[in-house]
Amino acid sequence: MSAAAAPPASASSPSAPGAGFAAPPGFAARARTVGGSPVREILALTERPGVISFAGGLPAPELFDTEGLRAAYEAALTDSGARALQYSTTEGAPELRALIAERFTRRGLPTDPAEVLVTTGSQQALTLIAGTLIEPGDTVLVENPTYLAALQCFGLAGARVLPVPCDEQGILPDALEELVLRERPKLLYTIPTFQNPTGRTLPAARRTAVAATAGRLGLWIAEDDPYGELRYEGEPVPWIAGHPGAADRTALLGSFSKILAPGLRLGFVRAPGALLRAATVAKQAADLHTSTVDQLAAARYLAAHDLDAHLERVRGAYRERRDALLAGLGGALPGGSEWNRPEGGMFVWARLPEGLDATAVLKQAVAHDVAFVPGAPFHAAYADPRSLRLSFTTHTPEEIAEGLRRLALGFASA
Ligand code: PMP
Repeated sequence: MSAAAAPPASASSPSAPGAGFAAPPGFAARARTVGGSPVREILALTERPGVISFAGGLPAPELFDTEGLRAAYEAALTDSGARALQYSTTEGAPELRALIAERFTRRGLPTDPAEVLVTTGSQQALTLIAGTLIEPGDTVLVENPTYLAALQCFGLAGARVLPVPCDEQGILPDALEELVLRERPKLLYTIPTFQNPTGRTLPAARRTAVAATAGRLGLWIAEDDPYGELRYEGEPVPWIAGHPGAADRTALLGSFSKILAPGLRLGFVRAPGALLRAATVAKQAADLHTSTVDQLAAARYLAAHDLDAHLERVRGAYRERRDALLAGLGGALPGGSEWNRPEGGMFVWARLPEGLDATAVLKQAVAHDVAFVPGAPFHAAYADPRSLRLSFTTHTPEEIAEGLRRLALGFASA
């Protein structure tokens, strides 16, 4: 259900009472005001066979190392079945935390395993951070547009969500500073690298400025980085979490979803001690711990395989797919459209010319068996109806070319 279609407060009780029964009390206000994800509804539409979808944000399944993961599960169950199937600590399996810390350290951010909490997807890390920091009515700043499920998460926490002005490189540091002074937010949520939905990457100097603002004015930062390892060109940009001003106030969220497989539901958060301890208590209340067998299998996999070699294969395929999309987009979108050229990640962000509405055009596109996601729902405010997100990861270059041919037909009939 979209937010706009949510029932009015007075209409919300779980079900109509039968004769002689009193209605149970209504749902919590936050459950009534946060809508479902329009992306989910669109994804359902595009599951029809034959549709070429640029809509979903899914990794390519043919690139999963199914055989390697099968062997890792078998090894975990054969060698330590009793442990793998038992309850375990909320913090996560020590060997997996050590591997996560070691990878952060190798990538330039010295990390101790004790600074890492394993979570059930990085989505849970987001929920835990929101639950730990946000009181109903607290202000959270977000990029505009931003990740839809983060908007839902902050909505469920009762936050007042405000957009930070952004340009094609992301957050404008001066505007952020002004907003922090004026609105006194508690938290900034940012996806600085290959952002969802825009593919944008915040340059190093702006990260330094964001960290300085957080340090000087007092602000928590949730730095969400599920896409950073999917870089196809250019140099990595240091994390905000590594800057001195922000180190004691930044939760850095990571995920195995895009580098191994999302079905594992394995994510992690690296955070300063007190925040990590509070998030760990919140996680205990939420699910006690992340699946032991999945953690042990992932740790086995990482110990036995060269993740970098696997990632090279994934990056090679995604680079080709990105290039195929960029090569054909000019021929598919109407004249006057604009789009960016991300150096990594999964998404290209485009803007249709004046007078066109991406949601209206989507219907024509789906009639031609191709789909994208309109950009409007990703906005916390000032939705841009001309914007759209195109994901390039799940189709081959040939399928992408065919999808773009259909998209051109869709626009011609719009
Ligand atoms: N953050 C962002 C920006 C995402 O795009 C996603 C998933 N698409 C997530 C977090 C959640 O990822 P997961 O729970 O699979 O780690």
